[in-house]
Amino acid sequence: MQTVNFNEVKEKLYGIDVKENANVGALTRYGTGGNANLLITPKSTSELVFTINALKGVCPYAVIGNGSNLLVSDKGYYGAVITTKLLTKTELKGNLLIAECGAKLSDLVKECALNSLSGLEFATGIPATVGGAISMNAGCYGKTISDNVLYVVTENGTVKKADCGFSYRQSRFLGGETVIKACFLLIPSEYDQILKQIETYKTSRKNPKGRSCGSVFKNDGYYAGKVIDECGLKGYKVGGARVSSEHANFIIADNGATSLDIYELISKIKSKVSEKRQITLFEELVYLGEF
Ligand SMILES: Cc1cc2nc3c(=O)[nH]c(=O)nc-3n(C[C@H](O)[C@H](O)[C@H](O)COP(=O)(O)OP(=O)(O)OC[C@H]3O[C@@H](n4cnc5c(N)ncnc54)[C@H](O)[C@@H]3O)c2cc1C
Repeated sequence: MQTVNFNEVKEKLYGIDVKENANVGALTRYGTGGNANLLITPKSTSELVFTINALKGVCPYAVIGNGSNLLVSDKGYYGAVITTKLLTKTELKGNLLIAECGAKLSDLVKECALNSLSGLEFATGIPATVGGAISMNAGCYGKTISDNVLYVVTENGTVKKADCGFSYRQSRFLGGETVIKACFLLIPSEYDQILKQIETYKTSRKNPKGRSCGSVFKNDGYYAGKVIDECGLKGYKVGGARVSSEHANFIIADNGATSLDIYELISKIKSKVSEKRQITLFEELVYLGEF
């Protein structure tokens, strides 16, 4: 492992909000996991780009959005974690919406509705930031965030949609370049119609209660939740982590759960499903740090 002089890194980032030995597990929906050597909170997209360029080749780093699909190791993360929580500006230009990476999808959906622009209604219940959603190509109800992307801006420049490498829960940005901002192409529509559509999606969404990261496994030619259920794993527990009895593709972190509990439960599910159904499950959830 590369040894990092974190004091030197801090000096390079003079003027930017950098905290040492900060808990990053608390920034995730699971709320489990340890500390990073540095937690960096850029106040502007130019600070974000500056930070990335300063860290490249010097210090391992990871970008965190809303933490809704992340499992942070209990041992923490060796390096710097950059949170995009302050980068939430949006700008409307006709039917184009340009949003910074930390903007919440739920806020985009509202802004589009208020301006009678259609396209993102499906994302109303996804607790993601723009950067997290684009890097994971988040989606539901047969739609994905990439459907409306026109281009993405990274620290290296502008990437046209055709070059974003979008596929099922994948893009070139996942573990790659950072999404700094993105431009969405929307369709002018009737305000009432858009609201109706949002309400329909809201009522059909039934997320299990408790702390989760949404679907843990990808649906890869099968419904992971159905397969896990058929293996009799609903309610199965490791420590404070359990398979939801409402939806078997959700793992709920109860009080006292650790990231290791969740990780071990994931491993257990994978081996049971492989043994009973000869299916290899692949995680949608992203790991941060060593497990
Ligand atoms: C209750 C619940 C319901 C959910 N429903 C859905 C659903 O319907 N459909 C769906 O697809 N997902 C769903 N999810 C999962 C999750 O919301 C998505 O995967 C979302 O895209 C993650 O966004 P985030 O901002 O929270 O990213 P994080 O969890 O913070 O990060 C996820 C990944 O994105 C990367 N990332 C974050 N920001 C950037 C950036 N600016 N540039 C590059 N990479 C970045 C991280 O490094 C990490 O690899 C759900 C989760 C929960 C808790």
